[in-house]
Amino acid sequence: MQCPVCGSNKVRRTATAHVQPVKNRRCKHCGTIWRPATPVWLAIVFLLLGTPVFLVGCYPLLDAVNCLSSRVSGLPHRVTWNGDMLPVFAFFWFLGAFCLNHGAAVLRGQAGKLRIVKPPVSNEGKRS
Ligand SMILES: [Zn+2]
Repeated sequence: MQCPVCGSNKVRRTATAHVQPVKNRRCKHCGTIWRPATPVWLAIVFLLLGTPVFLVGCYPLLDAVNCLSSRVSGLPHRVTWNGDMLPVFAFFWFLGAFCLNHGAAVLRGQAGKLRIVKPPVSNEGKRS
């Protein structure tokens, strides 16, 4: 990984203030601290993990549709899940939706971009 400001390869990982998939980097040459762009493979992991989690979260919805259709058709409908589980399903739904949304946004280039956290310490004579 290279410094986005000076192009130096002398880069090390540094502490991050909040949870993020890739740790911030600090350039030993110019002092710039930046958040690296989320790699494409990680966006794909988000999508791969998010899909089953989201589908599990959708289960009560599918069951509700199933219940309605059985009322229309007159066929008996067995409730296969407990209503107490609804918060768990809701949690899965939101977690899955977040993973899918974030993964897709990274692939579209709308999220997870490289961001300079702290600009270079000195501009080597470029200061006014
Ligand atoms: Zn640098």
